[in-house]
Amino acid sequence: MTFQTGAPSGVPLADFIHCPRCGAASLSSVEERAVGCPACGFKFYFNCATAVAALLFYRGRLVLGVRAKEPRKGMLDMPGGFVEFDETAEEALRREILEELNLAITQPAYLLSAPNEYVYAGILYKTTDLFFVCEANDISAIKAGDDVADYRLVAPSGLDPQTLAFPSARAALRRLLELPRRPGEG
Ligand SMILES: [Zn+2]
Repeated sequence: MTFQTGAPSGVPLADFIHCPRCGAASLSSVEERAVGCPACGFKFYFNCATAVAALLFYRGRLVLGVRAKEPRKGMLDMPGGFVEFDETAEEALRREILEELNLAITQPAYLLSAPNEYVYAGILYKTTDLFFVCEANDISAIKAGDDVADYRLVAPSGLDPQTLAFPSARAALRRLLELPRRPGEG
């Protein structure tokens, strides 16, 4: 499956010119995901960043955030974010949902992964987005925070995929709609 976001692809060479070890203006692409310095042998890999997102249900509806920041400010997004160093994907999911919506969740169940591109401050980050299905039993304490401006509760079958900020989330929604049974549906 190919995901097109209109963002540039590959190593952001224009932003990496000088070698951070020897200072020579010599960095060049030595592999698809790496830059290297011929003067001193320095080599740096641009690895995929791991990100998580939740198809978070409350009483059969998806809880979605409204993005507060660029990229895709104002569009709908599944709650989630980048996995920190030394953190599990499940821990990252719980942390992000607490930060963004002030909600506790049930045990997350893995759904699928999808590649994504995230441009922040002019730099392209390639990500591997991991999607989990989970539920909130109680949303009385819900409160938008962090990089979420507001939230929406939407029936998944009525959700227009084009209102989702990222193609990876659209893929997750498609997979969800193929499931024989979704949380909160008897
Ligand atoms: Zn160097």
